[in-house]
Amino acid sequence: MTDISTPKFLSGFRNAGLVKTAISEIHKCITQPWSLMEICGGQTHAIMQYGLDQLLPAEIELIHGPGCPVCVTSLALIDQALWIAKQPEVIFTSFGDMLRVPGSNGDLFSVRASGGQVRVVYSPLDAVEIASKNPDKQVVFFAIGFETTAPANAMAVLQAEKMGLQNFSILPANVLVPPAMHAILGSPDNRIQGFLAAGHVCAVMGYWEYPPIAEQYKTPIVVTGFEPLDLVNGILQTIKMLEEGRVEVKNAYSRVVTFQGNQAAQEIIKKVFEPVDRNWRGIGIIPKSGFGLREIYKNFNAVERFGSGDIKTEESKICIAGQVLQGLKKPSDCPAFGTQCTPQNPLGAPMVSSEGACAAYYRYGKKPR
Ligand code: SF4
Repeated sequence: MTDISTPKFLSGFRNAGLVKTAISEIHKCITQPWSLMEICGGQTHAIMQYGLDQLLPAEIELIHGPGCPVCVTSLALIDQALWIAKQPEVIFTSFGDMLRVPGSNGDLFSVRASGGQVRVVYSPLDAVEIASKNPDKQVVFFAIGFETTAPANAMAVLQAEKMGLQNFSILPANVLVPPAMHAILGSPDNRIQGFLAAGHVCAVMGYWEYPPIAEQYKTPIVVTGFEPLDLVNGILQTIKMLEEGRVEVKNAYSRVVTFQGNQAAQEIIKKVFEPVDRNWRGIGIIPKSGFGLREIYKNFNAVERFGSGDIKTEESKICIAGQVLQGLKKPSDCPAFGTQCTPQNPLGAPMVSSEGACAAYYRYGKKPR
């Protein structure tokens, strides 16, 4: 059989022949319906972009998970960001995706349009540099992301401390994958029978946290990458385990991910952050599912520095993002999809983000089979 798991070059992971071989393996071994969740929005986009869902056996249902940090950042946090960004002494910095995410009343773009200093940065260290060049301003970085961005967010705090900056802080918003998997698999509405774990999160954190999850919920998990061959290989390995009644954790992204992960990065995270309960937009509070600043770094917490303001959150009454993020509904089940809600006029975060499921369906013109 062709070796479908280890092409020598990246282009091999987009090789149509190898992808077809893996897909025909899936067709051969499947005997019954299975529901799999790809937890990461980057994987959802790749599946849609390459039309992989159309090539898989009809027995496989791919359920799109909440792995889009922009989408799950709570409305209260977005509103808090908007309030802080409006303060006259503040330069508010953020990754570009966050600027169009709707809060209860506007977005960061509208704050900028009305005179607020909102800047797009490509790294939290850019925000530290802005703080060092603007000592008369308070510079705040919106620290969103999964475990993947946490090391850089922690590094920014350490760097600001080293430089003695009194005018830099972060709005902590990192979220964690394993607690979300517990919440999904432990839900009475759960339909997930196998998981494709997010390769980039595992590149940082490893996958040592996953065997107890697989065992507790009797659900096989395969660490999966983002190229077409990575994805079909992850699906193949998951389906094989389900068909054979095996519950294991496999690594189908071994060119990037190790069991222990990047321990230096994990140490930096541990030094600066600690797990805290976090509210996921559309899902609710998941215990210990976010990173908050440790007590010794609380001076770098924008919430401590600026307070919360008078925040009254109000979600769109039309948007069903919560059900989409939990895998209970597809974006195309939403009555506003493609009509009232488009990337130009988003009603919910999943239509904004480059990793959002609604944006993936819209961009690639997909409807579920
Ligand atoms: S299509 Fe728009 S309104 Fe509907 S769930 Fe997605 S983001 Fe919300």
